[in-house]
Amino acid sequence: NLSERLERSFKLLKGQGKITEINVAETLKDVRRALLDADVNYKVAKQFTDTVKTKALGRDVLNAVKPNEMMVKIVHDELTELMGGETAQINVQGQPAVILMSGLQGSGKTTFSGKLARKLKSEKAKRPLLVACDVYRPAAIDQLKVLGEQIEVPVYTEEGNRNPVEIASNAIQYARQNHFDLVIVDTAGRLAVDEEMMDEIEAIKKAVKPQETLFVVDAMTGQDAVNTAKEFNDRLDFDGVVLTKLDGDTRGGAALSIRTVVTKPIKFVGTGEKLDALDYFHPARMADRILGMGDIVSLVEKAQKAIDEKEARELQKKIAKNQFNLEDFMAQIQQIKKMGNIKDLASMIPGVGKMIKDIDIDDNAFKGVEAIISSMTRYERQHPEIINGSRRQRIAKGSGTTVQEVNRLLKQFDDTRKMMKAATSMKNPMKMMRQMR
Ligand code: GDP
Ligand code: MG
Repeated sequence: NLSERLERSFKLLKGQGKITEINVAETLKDVRRALLDADVNYKVAKQFTDTVKTKALGRDVLNAVKPNEMMVKIVHDELTELMGGETAQINVQGQPAVILMSGLQGSGKTTFSGKLARKLKSEKAKRPLLVACDVYRPAAIDQLKVLGEQIEVPVYTEEGNRNPVEIASNAIQYARQNHFDLVIVDTAGRLAVDEEMMDEIEAIKKAVKPQETLFVVDAMTGQDAVNTAKEFNDRLDFDGVVLTKLDGDTRGGAALSIRTVVTKPIKFVGTGEKLDALDYFHPARMADRILGMGDIVSLVEKAQKAIDEKEARELQKKIAKNQFNLEDFMAQIQQIKKMGNIKDLASMIPGVGKMIKDIDIDDNAFKGVEAIISSMTRYERQHPEIINGSRRQRIAKGSGTTVQEVNRLLKQFDDTRKMMKAATSMKNPMKMMRQMR
């Protein structure tokens, strides 16, 4: 599946300190193949990988983050951007506001009409009226009536009238007279796009002048969804897309390509048959879903957040002046601990989660280190070079550790200090940190 494929692609970059033209090309080829497997339109997949490549090559890899993690973040941000960035709003201004459904039969128009009425009634205190315009199947009218009863929203019908344009127009008249401020017009669909259906929905649109014409599409139809969306958009110039049946393990590929091909926002996602299974569309969440990269994006973000900018800047100054001492070292350990349980963090890395499930990682990995540093005097912490043999013995005793452990810590600290000094004299870590955001 897509997430496993991407996981594999990103592994290619693991352990390499730099994003190069060569390893990006390799990875992006795999990303593109994975997107195609998920029914993302070919052109969309290509455009996407081209953009990501440009962005990845344009940036330095920062020392604190692995190239593959950085790659995940870039891919994630780009996916989010491509799907609209922000959550799109629905326009319900009007007396009454009119929302018109369009889409193929079975896409979920009738169900969505009920869900939307319920949502806007409770969230925006609207007084909705549902209108049954599927005059071809009596069962469709009954279906809407049943939904209406469940959510206590009246359903406008004209049994015997075979003209949906007339019914819709009359319904608006009725809504005005009876103080409904929202009219949701459910329409008929066919199994495939045909002229008659298109003429009909176009005529309804002309007659009722909706605030929103929504195109409802089954997310499970994959590549076909793009073609259908294009044909409906060419005729109706709709305002937004509703992606239904995103429950189960439906791939999010359709969201990506529909959005790119018709450049209309996805506004809602249906996630089940029940009437409360409706959500606003969140591009970033959908990117998570399409990538399926565990929570690696939040891992990177969490790591970034935990390292306070100001503290980091001060630390950098100290390192540059070679004043980084054991107190700072202790503060660094606190920072790492602030990021959360080590096992939790590690399990967010794709692939690692499964591996470490049964292994016991000591959450108190830093406990000994903290004990040792706590047993030092303030002066010793600030001037580690004075810690001689007898001081080491005293510290070991005080912390309940051994001299060997104290030695190891001091050596570790010394190595860290050297490494940090080398890193800062080369690059500006704060600048790189900001570029990651
Ligand atoms: P319409 O022909 O476009 O009006 O489609 P319907 O609203 O009648 O829905 C067709 C079928 O899809 C019904 O069985 C619905 O229960 C089901 N359905 C609609 N939306 C969703 C959804 O978000 N998830 C799932 N699992 N089923 C849905
Ligand atoms: Mg229907």
